[in-house]
Amino acid sequence: MRTLLYPEYERIEIAAFPKPTVARNEVLLRVAAVGICGSELEAFKSKSPRRVPPLIMGHEFCGIIEEVGEDTQSFAIGDQVVSHSLFGCGLCVRCARGDSHLCANRQLFGMNRAGAFAEYVNAPEHCLIPWPKRLAAEAASLAEPLANGVHVVGLTRQIEPAIVAIIGAGPIGLLCQQAFQCLSSADVIVADLIPERLSAASQLGAKHIVDSRDGDFVKAILSLTDGEGVDVVVDAVGSELSKNQSLAATRPGGTAVWIGLCENSVTVKSHKVTLSERRVQGSYAASMTELKTAVELLASGRVQWANWIKTFPLVEGVEAFHAMLAARGNDIKAVLIPEE
Ligand SMILES: [Zn+2]
Ligand SMILES: [Zn+2]
Repeated sequence: MRTLLYPEYERIEIAAFPKPTVARNEVLLRVAAVGICGSELEAFKSKSPRRVPPLIMGHEFCGIIEEVGEDTQSFAIGDQVVSHSLFGCGLCVRCARGDSHLCANRQLFGMNRAGAFAEYVNAPEHCLIPWPKRLAAEAASLAEPLANGVHVVGLTRQIEPAIVAIIGAGPIGLLCQQAFQCLSSADVIVADLIPERLSAASQLGAKHIVDSRDGDFVKAILSLTDGEGVDVVVDAVGSELSKNQSLAATRPGGTAVWIGLCENSVTVKSHKVTLSERRVQGSYAASMTELKTAVELLASGRVQWANWIKTFPLVEGVEAFHAMLAARGNDIKAVLIPEE
């Protein structure tokens, strides 16, 4: 089968790879659409030890069931499904707690097992949900990253945010924005350095946009909120600067959510946390329930995607990957379509 392969550090190429054979408790999917995730771009750039080549990456996908393993029971050949990006072992204390996304032995597609930058991929049936027929394949592939946004809304629900600020209008930032707009009553402010990304956020209904090239993000947030700060800041970038900005722009008693994936050591003024009772909340992936919510939101048409994603046939995967690495202008999110 054809794949977009990560054969060694600093290389990505279209390559042939043996088609997987289906395991007893898994199904074989013909991939219909797969998104290129920022975490994969970051892993490629930083030669991350979490994704070791040779590897087929790709964890945001939907597909059609081509074969079913002997021990599976939930799906039939021809069913359309959306996959979660990961699954837990089902045996440990974290899985028992319902936190299978935090399982120490979790398996992430395109990291711990073959991913979906390919014509076919295997998946256990318990990480699959039905893909509604009326939803375009490229939209269904956004369910997983949108579920990350749904997860952030869930993690901060307790403080009933009225104003949320998001640092970074990449795919995760734009999907967090839409998750808050759909699932909470918060107004959303979005900040970025790239004008096209800010205009995407604006078209999607951001209350304010902050052009971070104009100066200090924190000053802009404080001046929009009478010096108080916002209830929740989502850092969808992950740099030391953005992590510190997220704390400084959060109101006392509010929450800074760190979702941007970037492994770094960060120096933080601890009084910003202690004296003002700000919380730092990490956010990673999502639950199956949140994935279902994401599919419903996409199917309802309330989450917009058409004006900020670009589809590429899988054979143009190398160009797509490099375009997203360069992150210029309107190149916000690429979705690969194997059958084109
Ligand atoms: Zn991802
Ligand atoms: Zn587990």
